[in-house]
Parts: sequence; structure tokens; C-alpha cells
Amino acid sequence: MTIVRIAPRIDWDSLSFALTPTRTMFTASCDFDGEWSVGESVPYGDISVSPASGVLNYGQGVFEGTKAYRSARDRVVLFRPEANAERLRQSAVRLCIPPLPEGMFLHSLETVVRENSDFVPPADKGSLYLRPLLWGTGPMLGVRPAPSYTYLVFCSPVGPYFKTEERAIHLKVERRFHRAAPRGIGNAKAIGNYSGTLLPLVEAKREGFDEVLYLNAADEHLVEEVGAANLFIVKGGEVATPRLGGSILCGVTRDSVLHIARDLTGLSVTETNVSLEAVLAADEVFCTGTAAAVTPVARISIDGQTCQIGDGSIGRVTQLISRMLKGIQREERDDPYGWVHPVIGA
Ligand SMILES: *Cc1c(COP(=O)(O)O)cnc(C)c1O
Repeated sequence: MTIVRIAPRIDWDSLSFALTPTRTMFTASCDFDGEWSVGESVPYGDISVSPASGVLNYGQGVFEGTKAYRSARDRVVLFRPEANAERLRQSAVRLCIPPLPEGMFLHSLETVVRENSDFVPPADKGSLYLRPLLWGTGPMLGVRPAPSYTYLVFCSPVGPYFKTEERAIHLKVERRFHRAAPRGIGNAKAIGNYSGTLLPLVEAKREGFDEVLYLNAADEHLVEEVGAANLFIVKGGEVATPRLGGSILCGVTRDSVLHIARDLTGLSVTETNVSLEAVLAADEVFCTGTAAAVTPVARISIDGQTCQIGDGSIGRVTQLISRMLKGIQREERDDPYGWVHPVIGA
């Protein structure tokens, strides 16, 4: 039986994408050649780390991001956690971290959701963001894989990622910096990928933009993605997104939107090279991610010149896809794909 505890001191109406400490987190450990421990739940709080750990010295760490939702059927559900398990496995392999068994990953998410169920916001206020981390713990000095590893999942209730809420966002095309290189680690959710995006992001925000749009490092006529979200364009009833070339992160939301657009909207859908000109000439532009959901783009600026997309508000196709995705995630409509993974409730 689930005991519903009311989490004190959370104002559900003012939730943003910021950290709220919760009750427990899940952690497990492993030696380089060993097996993962079964793991355990511990109180949420600080951890201690060796100064010579692989993660602190050489960035040997990867992460995930997924959400638990209160659904229209009065359950708490996860969305496609198996896809996050598979991506975490691929990211880990790329960074020489022993991958985690899928069953253990799912068990860890379910445990954290159950133990912090009173931190899952009401359906119309937000969701419980889950952050799995995997990193090299053991001490070493030279550059090599760490001798031991830690897995940890913490969670936080969150509201919208962009403060603009319903409004569409303003992107800055980044001309000075690239996010990821061909054959690098852009397609892994590696912690090091995000440190390099901080300076461009801080500059862009200071200039009044909401996010940064990165170009392909090998061909700067092509767009890649936004800091932590994938990009889609709609033109004349066709939906397109940059194809995964090794430097783009394969978003679970991106993949879900591709399925929905192909199967449920009847529009033509392609994964292809998307040029900057095509983006600027699009009828609609939107970005996708677990944190960002489906966020419409109103304006894009490049070298100080601003281009408005459509009439600057959310487009018809963007709205349709956004509603369908949200409808499946919240169990307001059929889930023909079996994406919803119930954790609490019948
Ligand atoms: C996490 C992430 C995304 C979005 O992935 P989702 O699985 O949809 O949350 C897109 N781009 C980057 C760079 C990311 O880190």
C-alpha cells in the first residue's frame, strides 16, 4: 500500500527548473572489472569523493534525465525509461565505464519515485525530474579509466524549463564555438559536453536570448541542436530534424516526436541534413527534450540579425505534436507504443 505523504513547503505554482531537495536517492558501486552492487536507497545529501577520482580529474562521468508524471489515470508513470537505460549504456561504454544492467536502472528509478512520491507535483504543475549519474570514483593519477565507479539517482520536482512558459523562445546561432566534434563524444550524454556550453550560454543569456543553436563543426552551413535539446523544422507540411551524425545527442523526446509525427499526423517526416537557411525559412521551428518538452522557437538571431519564424507564436504542427506527446505521457490519450511505464497505481 502506498502512503501518500504531503511534502511540506513546496509551492507547486512557483516551480521552475530548479533543484528542490527530496527525501532519498539511490546509489550503487562497482570495480572496473567487477559487478555492480545491488544498490541501496540513502537519505538525500552530500557525498564524499576522492580528490584523485576519475570524474574530478578527467571528466569520466555520464548522466541521464527523465521524468515521472502524475497521470490522468491517477498513477505516477515514467516515460520510456528503457530508452534512457540503453542510452546510459552507450554513453558508459564510450567513456570506459562499466555499464549498468537495464533491470537495475529501472529498479533504481522506480525506487526513487516511490520513496519520493509526495514530491511528484500535481499533474498540471510539473513533474519529478530524475537525474541518474554514473562516474569514475576511484583514485588514480595518470589518464586512464578509474579503478571503481559510482551510480547515483537523485530527483527534484520541476516546472517549466524555460521561464517564458507558453511563449516561444529566441535562439542565438553560435558562431564562435561548437558544441561537439565529429567522432567526439557529442552523441554520449557525457558530463564534459556541457561545460563547454556554459560560456556560450551565459553570453547568449546576457544578450537577451533564451538558448544557443549550435552549427555542425565540419560543415557550418548545417545546424545540429540546441544546448540540451534537439531541433525540428516544419516547412510546407514536412517535418525535418538533423540526422544523427555522431555529434548530435539522440534524444528520447526526438525519437518520440519522430514516431508521433510519422504515425499520427500523416505529415512527411525526414531525418536529414538541415541547413541554417532551411531553419530560417521554416514555417515552424521547435526544440525537444525531457526538460524542454516541445518548445516553440519564435525568433532566431545570427550575427546580430534577427529572423522571425512564422508569426512568432506556436505553430499548428508544433502544437499538435506537443499535445499528442503530452497526452501520451500523461495518459490522457492512448499509448499505442507502450511507452508509459507505471510505477505507482493500478
Ligand atoms: C539530453 C539532451 C537532449 C534531449 O534528450 P531527451 O532524451 O529528449 O531528454 C538533447 N540534446 C542534448 C545535447 C542533450 O544532452
